[in-house]
Formats: sequence, C-alpha cells, structure tokens
Amino acid sequence: MQRFRESIHIRTMKAKRKVEEISKEDVQAFLKKHAFVLFTVAAVIIGIILGFALRPYKMSYREVKYFSFPGELLMRMLQMLVLPLLVSSLITGMAALDSKASGKMGMRAVMYYMTTTIIAVFVGILVVLIIHPGKGSKAEFGKQQKIEQVSPIDAFLDLIRNMFPPNLVQACTQQFKTKYGKRVVTVTVMVNDSVFNLTNATQELSREEVIPVPGSVSGVNALGLVVFSMGFGLIIGSMKEQGQVLRDFFDSLNEAIMKLVAMIMWYAPVGILFLISGKIVEMDDITQMGGQLAMYTITVIIGLLIHGVLILPLLYFAITRLNPFLFIAGLLQALITALGTSSSSATLPVTFKCLEENNKVDKRVTRFVLPVGATINMDGTALYEALAAIFIAQVNDVEMNFGQILTISITATAASIGAAGIPQAGLVTMVIVLTSVGLPTDDITLIIAVDWFLDRLRTTTNVLGDSIGAGIVEFLSRHELQSKDVEMGNAVLEEKERKKPYRLISQENDYDNEKHRHGDTKM
Ligand code: ASP
Repeated sequence: MQRFRESIHIRTMKAKRKVEEISKEDVQAFLKKHAFVLFTVAAVIIGIILGFALRPYKMSYREVKYFSFPGELLMRMLQMLVLPLLVSSLITGMAALDSKASGKMGMRAVMYYMTTTIIAVFVGILVVLIIHPGKGSKAEFGKQQKIEQVSPIDAFLDLIRNMFPPNLVQACTQQFKTKYGKRVVTVTVMVNDSVFNLTNATQELSREEVIPVPGSVSGVNALGLVVFSMGFGLIIGSMKEQGQVLRDFFDSLNEAIMKLVAMIMWYAPVGILFLISGKIVEMDDITQMGGQLAMYTITVIIGLLIHGVLILPLLYFAITRLNPFLFIAGLLQALITALGTSSSSATLPVTFKCLEENNKVDKRVTRFVLPVGATINMDGTALYEALAAIFIAQVNDVEMNFGQILTISITATAASIGAAGIPQAGLVTMVIVLTSVGLPTDDITLIIAVDWFLDRLRTTTNVLGDSIGAGIVEFLSRHELQSKDVEMGNAVLEEKERKKPYRLISQENDYDNEKHRHGDTKM
C-alpha cells in the first residue's frame, strides 16, 4: 500500500514538473513568436507614460523636435521603402496573374472599396446627425485662418490627371495640382448714347478673371505610379518568355525590399515610442478644449469604432465565415504603426509583413490589393470628411437638406480617394466637400486642434479596411488562385502548405476543402 502511494506520488510529481516545463517552453515560444507585437504594444504604453510624465516640463518647440527625432527617423525609413515597394509589389502582383484572373480580382477589390467607403460615409453621417455635436455657435473656437480655395471640378480633374503622369521620374516626387491665377480680360461693349444720338459707340471694359493654371505640390504621385505599375505588370505577365527577365527583376526587388522591412521592424517600437510621446508632449492642453470640439471628437471616435470594430469584422465574417478578430490580431503591429505614424502609405511595408507572415494571406493578393488600397481606399477618411462637413454645418446653424447630404456623401467618397496616405491629407481634401455644399472653407480651422489625434485614428481605420479587404478578396478569389497554382507552379506562393492562424472557426471553413465544397461558386 505504501509503495503504491509512493508510486502515485512520484507520478504526480513527474506530471507536475512536465506541466511546469511545458508551460515554461510555451511561454518562451509565445514570447519569441510575438516579440514584435509585444515590443510594439510596450512601446505604445511607455510612449504614453513618458509623454505625460514630460508634459509638466513645458519643453520648447525645438526641444520637442529633438526629442521626437527617433520617431522622425522611423517615418523616414518607412517612407524610403514605400516607393520601391509599391511599384515592385504591384508589378509582380499583376504579372503573376493572367488578365482574366487579375480582372476578376480587381473587380472584387473595387467592389469592396466602394461598398465599404459608402458604408463608412453613411455611418459618419448617421452618427453626426444623431449625436449632433455642433451647437450653432463659433464663440468658443479661436481665431480662424484663411484656407486656400479649391473648385470641386478642378480637384476631380486633378485626380484623373494624376492617374496619368507625363513624367514617371517626376511622379516619384510631385503631384499635379491646379493653382489659380488672374487674367485681365478686355471686353468691348456697345454704348447707346442718347445725348449725342450715337448708336454705334463702343467702350472697352477690362475685368479680372480667376483662371486655373497648372501647378504642382511635392509628394509621391502614388495614384500615377499605381496605374502605371498595374498596366506594366499586366503586360509583362502576358509576355511569356520575353517578360521573364523583368518579372524576375521585380520579384527579386520586392523580396529585397521586404527583407529591409524586416530589419526596420526591429527599430519600429523605438520609433513608435518617440512618435507617440513626442506628440503627447507637444499637444495643447486637452482641458482647454471647448464643449463642441470635445463632443465632435467623441462623435468621430464612435463613428470610427462602429466601422472598424463592428461593420468591417461583420463583413469579413459574413463573407468568409472565419473569425475576424483572430485576423485583426495578426494585424496589430500594422495598426499600431498607423496610429504612430498617421500615414497609411508609410505603414504599407508593415501591413505587407503582417498580412503575409502573420495571417498568411497569398502574396499575389497582398501585392495587388494592398498598394491600391493604401492609395485609394480610405474608409476612415471618408467617414471623417462627411462627419466633419456636417459638424461644420451644425456649428454654422445651417440645416442640410437631403440633396446636400447626398452631395456630401459623393464628394466625401471622392475626397477620400483623392487624399494621399500622408498625415492630415484628409483635412486638405475637406475643402472640396465644404465647397460642394457652399459651407465656409475657412471653418476647417475650427477642427484643426484635434485633427492630429483623429488623423491617427482614421489612418488606423484606413489600414484596417485595406487589410480586411485583402482577406476578403483572397477568399473570393480562391478558385482562380488555386487553378493558377496548378497551372504555373506558382512562382510567388512559397508557402504551399499554408496554415492560416485565423482559420479556426470550423472544419467546414477549411480552405483546402473549399474546392470540393464550393465547386463552381463564383462571385
Ligand atoms: N492620414 C491619413 C492616411 O494616411 C489620411 C487622412 O488624413 O485622412 O491614411
């Protein structure tokens, strides 16, 4: 009996030790696997604490700039990679698919972009109409500055002009932008002089006329490069043997850039820490904020949360039947980078890394969908622009009728497409939305005080929208991707046996079974 007890005791102890060992290993493996994410989350927390701890010291502008220097470096590193990454990924992405497959995938991506942007605008309008943060007075806001006027038609034409840059080298540094000049026009008018009874007398009148003239602003013309790279990729993809050298070149360029991204990722937490704490040190005193502005900030946050935490995940679930929050967990680093940099194009390298490595999304999809999404799909910006325009109307005590709200929805959608993926670009394109319904454009300055903060949130929503779009397009395009795999041995898909970490809802949803189950289900 004694022996029996002893043996049980020994066995129990052994089992206990084993559990302890496993859990230790588990923890280590967990830490190793999620090191980047943990560092990034820690950076955000330390950044916030450090920022608030330094605020009482009232640093000068110069000191804040020096303090934020490590953050500025991160921005510069990421921006450095955007151009080659955007071009090489789009070209290889398009070249890896035949025109039929890329056409279908493109259609799905565009459908997704349009649907989600329209939903975002709708959510923005609904939230601002329900909460009604504007109370019909500008008394609490500070002095207003002058804002440069833009005609909506010219802005729209600029968007199309920028799609076709006349000089590709220039497109890497500049965008076309209509400027306004003055021209003196002289008109001859007939004067009917009743005193002298001269019926054929003429008089020359001169007046000034505002005319649009070609101009430019600095910044990458991403839209132009996207259009060129898509066309170029499609062509070299169809060139068979002849295009092989170019395909290999851009494929290799893309891989090399992604390796650089992997190196920069180690620095990212440091950069994010300083970007966040620098901004907290720099910001104005929040307690001074007026009631309307505070309500406006809360309204924007609620709108973005509804779209990002409810609608987009729901859409993802409705289409793929997979757990959207596991998918989002894989994107955490990209979302935090967006929050830190407030630029969806600077975040693009990190978004690629997260989607391809954590969520194992097919590279042919990410390479195609992400650069286009980062350039034209901005749900957060669209929601924000529509909401802000109606808020400005409320502050001015202007009742919007249905037609005006419809105009705001359309122009906010266009403005979000035209906005560059850089900090506070949405504020610039807001002029178009306000002009279209006759609201005072100078009132944009009323919301400038909180824009740096809301910009970070809407950029995060923009990146989330692009990433979920990649997941959805991949799911919808699985048949084309599979048949293409079989056809050409799949040059860009290295991980044949891909285990998707977010594909966990049910056995039924296993992609590998998709082919048999859905047979000919097509979009
Ligand atoms: N900063 C945003 C982005 O990069 C654009 C905006 O200002 O809304 O996505």
